[in-house]
Amino acid sequence: MSRASMTFTQLEEREVARVRNHTHVAKAAMARPSAAFPRLVDEGAYQACTFDLSVPPWEGAPGASEWIHVFRASLDEFVRRASSASDEDGGGTDAPARARAFEEDFLRVLKAYECDEAVSCAPDWCPKPLPTLDCVWLCRLRERALRVHGFEDVFRDVKASQNDEACRMLPALLRRLDQMQDERVQMERLVRGLLAGNTFDLGANASARAFQDGESTSGSVESFFETCEALPDRPWMVDDVDAYLQAWCDEAAWRRDHRKAVVFVDNAGADAVLGALPFARQLAKRGMDVVLAANRSPSINDITASELETTLADARKNDEFLRNVGEKVRVVECGNELPVIDLKDVSMQLASEAEDADLVVLLGMGRAVETNLHVELDCDCLRVARVKHKEVAQLLGGELFGCVVKWTRATESSKRRSGS
Ligand code: MG
Repeated sequence: MSRASMTFTQLEEREVARVRNHTHVAKAAMARPSAAFPRLVDEGAYQACTFDLSVPPWEGAPGASEWIHVFRASLDEFVRRASSASDEDGGGTDAPARARAFEEDFLRVLKAYECDEAVSCAPDWCPKPLPTLDCVWLCRLRERALRVHGFEDVFRDVKASQNDEACRMLPALLRRLDQMQDERVQMERLVRGLLAGNTFDLGANASARAFQDGESTSGSVESFFETCEALPDRPWMVDDVDAYLQAWCDEAAWRRDHRKAVVFVDNAGADAVLGALPFARQLAKRGMDVVLAANRSPSINDITASELETTLADARKNDEFLRNVGEKVRVVECGNELPVIDLKDVSMQLASEAEDADLVVLLGMGRAVETNLHVELDCDCLRVARVKHKEVAQLLGGELFGCVVKWTRATESSKRRSGS
């Protein structure tokens, strides 16, 4: 593969591997091809990031310095987790020192963006000139700083314990959902479950603090249902719930128009297991193939494809429907390694699966709001997220922890343009 045809992500991975002298990782990165997500209407015009961080759209809106602050404020949680990482994830006796070195390096990156003197401020491994200030690059450089200092998956323990807890709760949750006779009430509860689960996000400072205070842990199905009920009053920040429920409740039309879904999942624990899995199961009950697209490699507390495989296998053991439906509900690694997603750079496997998808579901603030909020797809699309940065809430005209449910039908013109 020529250098020109490789993606930034692969180049990044090779560079980190080179810095750390891991030639086998560099070779693996070179061998991994990627593609644009085939449901994009206009791949050439695609911009992953929703907000231009460098230019506030109106006076008083957050600009570059506020966004840099968002990433600076997230660092305490990373340093805390990295300092106590297991050996497998890059821990060890020198982990606290390396965690501080990671912090210093990433602060230098942020400083370089602030002072516009990248050459003198930014660490050696940082691209120069600095890449565009956007959320994809800031996330990418934070991951890169962790890898350069030897950390692989510093949130592994918390992801595992949250997945275990959620898996224990799942059978009772599914029974409760199955008892609901009214399909509109049931689907609204499933959407609320997506939002309630999405509250837990250790990459966002406000959510991480709430988690430390014990607010985001559910513990029981009852408390999860209470969280579903305790969402802000509707109408939400973006609220297409009624339109989505109307489409869902026209079962004949739904079955005619929706045969296969790609669901981009977000966080480990309640988000993926109590939000995304029951939702995916309900789509499968309507006869749909459901592809759960999860990250290839670790990023904050996002669930990885291999972790999701494990939780799905666990769910199958305890749920007859999921067991019988088999590979109609399946996991695919989407090629991504960030808490946001650039749809120009997905795995070949996901691109292949998405060729005949007629529904895309984007879950979580990173994938559905900070990236891809306004991106046009040539199929129906549901975006569901809890907003955990006050800067994002401000740009959307809402409050911290507000809810986004955006339902977009594919227009005939977009279908024609993409030839589907
Ligand atoms: Mg996440």
